[in-house]
Amino acid sequence: MEKLPASAAILKGIANDGGLFVPDEIPFVGNELKNCIDMNYKELASFIISKFFTDIDKKELDECIDLAYDNKFDSDEIVPLKKTKKAFYLELYHGPTLAFKDMALCLLPHLMKTSAKIQNLKKQIVILTATSGDTGKAALEGFANVEGTKIIVFFPKNGVSEIQRRQMITQVGNNTKVIGIDGNFDDAQSEVKNIFNDATLKDQLDENGYMFSSANSINIGRLVPQVVYYFHGYMELVRRGEIDFGEKINFDVPTGNFGNILAAYYARKMGLPINKLICSSNDNKVLFDFLSTGTYDKERNFIVTISPSMDILVSSNLERLIYDISSKNTDLVRMFMDNLNKEGKYTITDDMKKELNLFYGGFANEEETLDSIKHNFENYNYLIDTHTAVADAVYEKYVKDTGDKTKTIIVSTASPFKFTKSVMRALDEKYINYDDMELVDIMSRVSGLKIPEAVEKLKINSIIHKTICKKQEMKTEVIKFIMNK
Ligand SMILES: *Cc1c(COP(=O)(O)O)cnc(C)c1O
Repeated sequence: MEKLPASAAILKGIANDGGLFVPDEIPFVGNELKNCIDMNYKELASFIISKFFTDIDKKELDECIDLAYDNKFDSDEIVPLKKTKKAFYLELYHGPTLAFKDMALCLLPHLMKTSAKIQNLKKQIVILTATSGDTGKAALEGFANVEGTKIIVFFPKNGVSEIQRRQMITQVGNNTKVIGIDGNFDDAQSEVKNIFNDATLKDQLDENGYMFSSANSINIGRLVPQVVYYFHGYMELVRRGEIDFGEKINFDVPTGNFGNILAAYYARKMGLPINKLICSSNDNKVLFDFLSTGTYDKERNFIVTISPSMDILVSSNLERLIYDISSKNTDLVRMFMDNLNKEGKYTITDDMKKELNLFYGGFANEEETLDSIKHNFENYNYLIDTHTAVADAVYEKYVKDTGDKTKTIIVSTASPFKFTKSVMRALDEKYINYDDMELVDIMSRVSGLKIPEAVEKLKINSIIHKTICKKQEMKTEVIKFIMNK
């Protein structure tokens, strides 16, 4: 097992044996929780993140945090919490690319620069990323023109929304490259992993003064900043008098790679009073099946849905949960991951299965997702995107199923303006005849919501990235880009 200081793990992204970095211990802050009530978002971020990244100087960390959570966000609160008659919604999409990935990816480039300093790194960092739509843009935005870095993003060319696609292919920055692939997200992600683990390529890069790192949620630098907003959401409920301090609440998370909900799991281990974690999937319900049976089985058809950022069959971050619930049995984790690679599945032990009681797994199909958008808009005048709608629909099932009345925060992961076609279609079938960009204006008119600046810009920005390639050609493209060939 490879043991590194946080700064080195952030730079590396993934361990030499292909495993994911985890904290030595998840820091417990239960006895300091009361102090969090009066913290604003940045103060909270500093408090939480410094508990994990102990080799980064607190003052430098605070500088990173200041640069990350500034007026790039269109809300002073950074993460507003909305209330309807049904539930609370933690809006994580007020950053520059309109999805929750911004919460960590605004900070990651700064963390990497600081880490490079600590580690006395002389090499250029090459960020290699596969995206199901939102990570790509958020990473590009974060790393564009950051000195000492290059970033290359692969997205499934038919697997993202039109707005997501435009956001990426119009990306400026002389250190950026965006490529569409003939294939789905899992194809892109598995090939990115192969490229990462290619020892010959690694040596070649090394000789030329480069090293790979990752902006995907396999990077521990992505995960830890995501813990912060769970504390923020909880404290906001306390501040508003919606709950008593110490009262438990539920979080409901629309899930794909298991990164967001794993951060909630870490928050709970740190001492945040959480009752249930509701893990919501779309039709690619591999996690629902895992939570119900204890068997993870990726051998099934990949379904393209209207919540594309959750169209994932290999949820990478589950490895970190497996590690934790196996009492840190690395041999066992290695065996499961080998089985997943070779046979497409693995089954956890009965003892481990018991640890999963904290989670409630659910899924929503396309119709249920569309109904949820319509219902929330018509009844509460609240417009949600397709991913949030999956979680919302699962929450209804959860309440029906369990009768649980615990206050619940639904984690809202993207702006409806990123998925105009599906969202407007949910409100009225007639919108199916319009294209995504036309629907931006219509959505604004119908909902009364202001068009986010990031979407407004897409109307005029020109297309910069036109490359399309096959999965087998990804490595060649990476080399071409890095070596400027
Ligand atoms: C990435 C993403 C998800 C899934 O988050 P994971 O951390 O991969 O589970 C859900 N919704 C949106 C909008 C996303 O961009």
